[in-house]
Amino acid sequence: MEKQNFYALSFDRLKKFLIEKVAVPEKQAKMRGEQLFNAVYKKNIKSFDELTTFSLELREKIKELISLDKPKVIDVQESKDGTIKFLLELKDKRNVETVLIPDKTKSRYTICLSVSVGCYLSCDMCATAQISKKLVRNLSVSEITSQIILCKEYLKDWKTSDKKIKTQVLMGQGESGYNLDNLKTYIEIAKHNSALDYGRTRITVSSVGLCNKKEELSVIEWIGRNIDTYLAISLHSSINSQRDKLMPINKKFSIDSLIPELKKYYEITKLPIFIEYIALEDNLSEEHAKALVAIMKKVPSKLNLIEFNPLENRSYKAASKETIDKFSKIIQDNGFLALFRKSKGRDINASCGSLALKKIN
Ligand code: SF4
Repeated sequence: MEKQNFYALSFDRLKKFLIEKVAVPEKQAKMRGEQLFNAVYKKNIKSFDELTTFSLELREKIKELISLDKPKVIDVQESKDGTIKFLLELKDKRNVETVLIPDKTKSRYTICLSVSVGCYLSCDMCATAQISKKLVRNLSVSEITSQIILCKEYLKDWKTSDKKIKTQVLMGQGESGYNLDNLKTYIEIAKHNSALDYGRTRITVSSVGLCNKKEELSVIEWIGRNIDTYLAISLHSSINSQRDKLMPINKKFSIDSLIPELKKYYEITKLPIFIEYIALEDNLSEEHAKALVAIMKKVPSKLNLIEFNPLENRSYKAASKETIDKFSKIIQDNGFLALFRKSKGRDINASCGSLALKKIN
């Protein structure tokens, strides 16, 4: 019988498992669950043998039924700017990436987590989209959780370390909206105060903005009600005809259909939406800026302009500083926040998916 992977269990599921499979008395399950979460997520035990406050019999039973298996780190690349990129090998030999992005102090990091191997979508300007469709699959909960554990191990981000992963963005490989149940369980582990202990405003979930239904709600509304973190919408163009080309999913869920759903997201969470927008030479015209202002007037939001990392087989041109400044000024003159994020880790195949793509080719 295959063991239950610990990193796949939310607190409630762990409690249930302890009662039903490990025969922990119901009254003790909460305490034992908290001890286990603390030991694994805060003290980083490598084996259940380290649970010295548990009886030998209980430890043996847990060892027999639960594993602490994680993917293998097969490549780590550190950029001159401090960005660290990890290539992981999963049980089925597929690869996935995780990235640590430092702040100015180089001791605080944002982790960029992946939710799938490759991506089901085909955004034209994205390296991940070029990973063979045959390889695409969703990551399990334990594969998502393991990414942050492996990065914490690399940084030695435990109690006394001065290097810390302060924020999480689920913006790596894959579309969150296609892996919602696993994402929800992962976020429960990420938020639980005996586990990873991240508040809702230290986590950002990214999506292209799927409006299909999940339990009678649009995916965006479902994320608001069930995940309750910051939401980043990959817009990348404020004009439908161009977004259709950059992100073919726009033909199904156009910008106009996103707006009411984003408004609902704000009403549910009271958190502004981050609009993610890659800075290309031809998506930052005055017309684009005006169209974006019209969107931002309808939805409480902030703009993140992202430096474009050119792809070998695509002709998109990164926007010049002058184009970016002109565009940002129009947004800011209308009273909205526009931040320009420089691309990090250019020397280590920084754009999401490119390391995994290199491994395949
Ligand atoms: S941009 Fe995001 S959603 Fe689009 S193909 Fe890349 S990983 Fe998938």
